[in-house]
Amino acid sequence: MNNLKLPSLPDMANIWQETLHWTPTVQQQAQFQQLYEFILEGNSQLNLTRITDPQEFWEKHLWDSLRGIATLLKDETMGEEMTSSSPFSSSSPLSFIDIGTGAGFPGIPVAIAVANCTVTLLDSTRKKIAFLEQTRTALNLTNVKTLTGRAEEVGQQRQHRQTYDVVLIRAVGTASVCAEYALPLLKQGGLAVIYRGNWTEEETKILENVVNQLGGVIELVEKFTTPLSGSIRHCLYLRKVAVTPVHFPRPVGVPTQKPL
Ligand code: SAH
Repeated sequence: MNNLKLPSLPDMANIWQETLHWTPTVQQQAQFQQLYEFILEGNSQLNLTRITDPQEFWEKHLWDSLRGIATLLKDETMGEEMTSSSPFSSSSPLSFIDIGTGAGFPGIPVAIAVANCTVTLLDSTRKKIAFLEQTRTALNLTNVKTLTGRAEEVGQQRQHRQTYDVVLIRAVGTASVCAEYALPLLKQGGLAVIYRGNWTEEETKILENVVNQLGGVIELVEKFTTPLSGSIRHCLYLRKVAVTPVHFPRPVGVPTQKPL
């Protein structure tokens, strides 16, 4: 450890409230700061993220991660039964898996924000998972589990296939690849959240056919603007409505080489 003071994240309570109708507690804000410091330090050994500026980290990592589950956060804040309009299923506590979590996004902010859930962080890089295990201990995140492996293999394992309520997946591949990784892991009725930058209606049409083959439907495509830099982003919400055929996900590398 060196003695250099690490930068502080902005508080942004008003923006959280205005955009997501939710604000972190003092403890959650402290966990966000610890996460930030851990990643800045970890970056010197491991290539975790290029986003290190405090405002940018807040927007692109924390805010963006939680924007994908905005409806769930709002329901939590209201302390109400989830409404039928909520894209999240009402079974509680929810089990999440974050595929290709990297430095823990979107899974760790979700685990911090939604205490009453479990989040499995999956990545194929063992070093990243080792880093996330240290992070979990340091932040005392008792609802976080870690898993080293490839989504193509984990999706075929009985202890993981068809066992999660929500799959999160950001910056791992094309939407078609993400859908093939995600849908086998979902329970019937579960939801996959695919985080995207740009997205067009044309792409929705193409993806519809892919998602169909995997036992899902595209329930919602949400477009939004990030609150600091005004960037356009999208979240695709896929609902699992049927059993995914056993040959999905295909063996390691096939989904990316021969996308559906
Ligand atoms: N989701 C994070 C990291 C994205 S980088 C974020 O948005 O910031 C992509 C990550 O996915 C890398 O850490 C890589 O190791 C992992 N990854 C890529 N293909 C994978 C696969 N098939 N199974 C599991 N992890 C994978």
